[in-house]
Amino acid sequence: LIVVLAGGVGAAKFLHGLAAAVPPDEITAIVNTGDDVEFYGLDISPDIDTVLYTLSGRVNPETGWGLAGDTVACLGALNELGEDTWFRLGDRDIATHLVRSSLLRSGLSPTAVTAELASRLGVRSWILPMTDSHFRTFVQTDAGRLPFQEYFVKRGQTDVVKAIEFEGCETAEPTPGVIEALRSAAGLIFAPSNPFVSIGTILAVKGVRQLIESRSYPSVAISPIIGGKALKGPADKMMSSLGHDISAVGVARLYQGLVDVFVIDNEDAGLKPEVEALGFRVIVTNTIMRGLPERERLARDVMQAIR
Ligand code: GDP
Repeated sequence: LIVVLAGGVGAAKFLHGLAAAVPPDEITAIVNTGDDVEFYGLDISPDIDTVLYTLSGRVNPETGWGLAGDTVACLGALNELGEDTWFRLGDRDIATHLVRSSLLRSGLSPTAVTAELASRLGVRSWILPMTDSHFRTFVQTDAGRLPFQEYFVKRGQTDVVKAIEFEGCETAEPTPGVIEALRSAAGLIFAPSNPFVSIGTILAVKGVRQLIESRSYPSVAISPIIGGKALKGPADKMMSSLGHDISAVGVARLYQGLVDVFVIDNEDAGLKPEVEALGFRVIVTNTIMRGLPERERLARDVMQAIR
């Protein structure tokens, strides 16, 4: 079993390649749920949906999230009713949230609901929410304390992030599935995801960091920062405002003790000695994942490091 710690778009692209490189049912993704949000009584789990849509071939290729060819008639109607519709919900995407919400209300756990959605969408890898408990990411900014999606979507990541807080992290338990995956893995992969609000959340679930620190299998991370920039999202700005170097070296420092092999992009080949000096084995390769061939090739490089 190969276990992947996953956020949204960056992780989903990598998982897509991995599912082409190894049998999909030998992959378990532990997915961030700190970004989860409720609107109009719907339970929305953006990173889980991005992973499910990508692995089932339904994702919108332009955005990397949402469903291909989706429309926004419902949002338009909500607008006419005077609602502030800053969170993008596609019409067909809403079907996913309706099913999730109704299954949750019938008493199933988030883990069971995600397994059901994965099965109905034909996803054969094991997609696990990092916890079944309440866990919400907040950011402290110069504009005050904001729930994650208000910072990320509503305000477009324009605020300077001074601190990140996880509501519920004192009580949120990893699920039995997460514990079992981290105990019995043959290898662990940190997907190229935001180190603070995607991977950092998973590591903040009680006991997860300790389980990884005491692992007896190899662990590999792929840098989400290339040439001093994030390909998407606020990871680079967060690195700097939280006091880290905006570089693969800065990310590697965050993963010390948790990762053995660190994968950096060809563009960052010059950083190899610095990352090695931190105690990692370093792989330099193309880590920009446009189409499936690039994703699969990166996954094969990572699998070779694990084997
Ligand atoms: P989000 O929750 O949708 O923002 O997605 P993630 O947390 O999974 O990923 C965001 C991070 O993934 C950003 O820091 C990006 O730089 C990184 N990322 C996205 N696509 C790629 C890629 O093709 N290659 C690499 N190396 N990083 C990527």
